[in-house]
Amino acid sequence: MSESNKKICPVQKKCGGCKLLPIPYSEQLQKKQKRVSSLLSKYGRVEKIIGMDNPYYYRNKVHAAFDHDRKGNAISGIYEEGSHRVINIDSCYLENQKADDIIVTIRSLLKSFKLKTYDEDTGYGFLRHVLIRTAHSTGQIMVVLVTGTPIFPSKNNFIKVLRSKHPEITTIVQNINDKRTSMILGERQQVLYGRGYIEDILCGKKFRISPKSFYQVNSVQTEILYNKAVEFADLNESEEVIDAYCGIGTISLVVAEHVKSVIGVELNDDAVKDAIINKKQNSVGNVKFINADAGKFMSGLAEEGNRCNVVFMDPPRSGSTVEFMDSVVSMKPDKVVYISCEPETLARDLGYFTKHGYKMDRAVLVDMFPMTENVECVVLLSKLHTK
Ligand code: SAH
Repeated sequence: MSESNKKICPVQKKCGGCKLLPIPYSEQLQKKQKRVSSLLSKYGRVEKIIGMDNPYYYRNKVHAAFDHDRKGNAISGIYEEGSHRVINIDSCYLENQKADDIIVTIRSLLKSFKLKTYDEDTGYGFLRHVLIRTAHSTGQIMVVLVTGTPIFPSKNNFIKVLRSKHPEITTIVQNINDKRTSMILGERQQVLYGRGYIEDILCGKKFRISPKSFYQVNSVQTEILYNKAVEFADLNESEEVIDAYCGIGTISLVVAEHVKSVIGVELNDDAVKDAIINKKQNSVGNVKFINADAGKFMSGLAEEGNRCNVVFMDPPRSGSTVEFMDSVVSMKPDKVVYISCEPETLARDLGYFTKHGYKMDRAVLVDMFPMTENVECVVLLSKLHTK
């Protein structure tokens, strides 16, 4: 471990975002290994967790909520755990440092531009949130200003000053969220500067990332994760692959060169639009992206009697559904590579697969979320061949 664990955050207890910060990183890894090994013990062994050399400042996506204190000064940062009270912070050990600097600049500009922060109770005010996405390998930076109203007084001047203080910003988007909701982003948005998206390179492929698309938050560990998934799948050129819950098509496009064909399926239409562009700009011909619910799409394929050789599945924290897994089982893939960010739902879903003709062959943890209790897990399930 290159860094000793002496970091202390003054708001650690209130925020609750980095519960493991006081624990040495090597112990954090052991803790995660122990927890998931015991959760999955009835299915098999979990290989040694892959940690980070530098486990700080890894989040490429940073969100700051905006509010004001009793004196009316703008504050920005994270919500106090379990509440909507904003804790004012300038930096966080988990977050990209450039992103944090930009947020502090935005906060300091509000007063001179007479821009008010949004008030959740009254629904009045302007700036609600700032979302920043940084691309690890290209250095591109997207700033999303989430506002309670579409009217942006002194817009051009604000953008000019922000860009002059942070020339590293490559695009700025205004997203309008005028609903009384805890969702960060609203429906409408307009590009104020640049292209409205950033591009990053992962596993040698270029990916476009729009404000609303899912993108793994830890780019260093994502490459390791995808390489493990590809290694586990042990692909060959005759195989037909399904990449379910595919986001902007990262796994589909990384595995495409090893196989005959890939179908990626994803519910978020912005992510699918990105995926289709990503396919074109990487000149990949053998991939198709479908905008649908993964369970409904798979059950349709299964009902038509389709088969496939390999399924990659990377569902959200809530895990997969019986509809989806039922359909996988009836399509009889030899291998299912399950990528999970929630060991509890993974264990539940492994229960289903192991009752329906599959066994866990390999499992490994990749620490995508140092200083937190969360961890990513890749599992290879192989079909049992009954005589
Ligand atoms: N494999 C991608 C994305 C994983 S995150 C990557 O590594 O980047 C999980 C994705 O599942 C998100 O993009 C989310 O929009 C999508 N999703 C959630 N529910 C879904 C459903 N029912 N059907 C299809 N996709 C879904």
